[in-house]
Amino acid sequence: MAVHEIVMENEQAWRPDTDTRKGLLQIWQVMKECIYRGTHTPGMLPGGLEVKRRSAELNKRLLKGQPYSNYEGWLEAIRKGGNDFTYILDWVSCFALAVNEENASFGRVVTAPTNGAAGVIPAVLQYYIAFCDGNKEEKIMQFLLTAAEIGSIFKKGATLSAAMGGCQAEIGVSSAMAAAGLTDVMGVQRQVLMAAEIAMEHHLGLTCDPIGGRVQVPCIERNTMGAIKAITASQLARQSAPDYAKVSLDAVIKTMWDTALDMSHKYKETADGGLAVNVPLSLPEC
Ligand code: SF4
Repeated sequence: MAVHEIVMENEQAWRPDTDTRKGLLQIWQVMKECIYRGTHTPGMLPGGLEVKRRSAELNKRLLKGQPYSNYEGWLEAIRKGGNDFTYILDWVSCFALAVNEENASFGRVVTAPTNGAAGVIPAVLQYYIAFCDGNKEEKIMQFLLTAAEIGSIFKKGATLSAAMGGCQAEIGVSSAMAAAGLTDVMGVQRQVLMAAEIAMEHHLGLTCDPIGGRVQVPCIERNTMGAIKAITASQLARQSAPDYAKVSLDAVIKTMWDTALDMSHKYKETADGGLAVNVPLSLPEC
């Protein structure tokens, strides 16, 4: 069975399939609305860091004035731009920035697996919809079921909390989830866990050091990195033979947890180390 099939069958212990499917599509609906809102909202973020929102400007630049009035029209306009590598790369960043700018300005996001890392999974799924295989409900559900299972395995074997494990637990896990989901919908079942493993392997040790304690810098950009690493990990896994993989998903989860235990508290969401102490700021007290 494919990972998404196992998860779907497991969910039957909790609720009928129709409810699970409805819930999954509702999750994508919220993610989609968040991306669309974020890509159409310019301005500054609240919080005193004076961080400028970038997604809306990038969206405008990439679309070069093409007209549209809703999500479907926007998607069509994006597709008209072709398949150039830098064009796609810019869009992946644009989708991820959009979600995390929404998160940083009290907008509605789907916690996946956390709010700081909420942009990775929507960005990769939106990339798949825009540039790979179209807007198909079955594939969207498949992607989310597989991604959710990978998140659950990380939660049980390590942590999803930056306060316990640094950013490897947030962006690292979201990237692994997205890599697995993407590999699954690309129809390459044997490499699903390998893709998740690769994505996490190259986030190991990533610290959490948000400037001023705001989930803005480096968090917003970091979602673009998590998304592109997920796509690369999926691509690499799909071009590789899992039989020859040296690191298993179980091994990388254990390594992530060991690294979390060794990590100084300065790098666990305390804003006491890293960028948080090396970038000078003058934030008002309240
Ligand atoms: S740096 Fe910390 S707050 Fe920011 S995304 Fe990573 S884990 Fe979340």
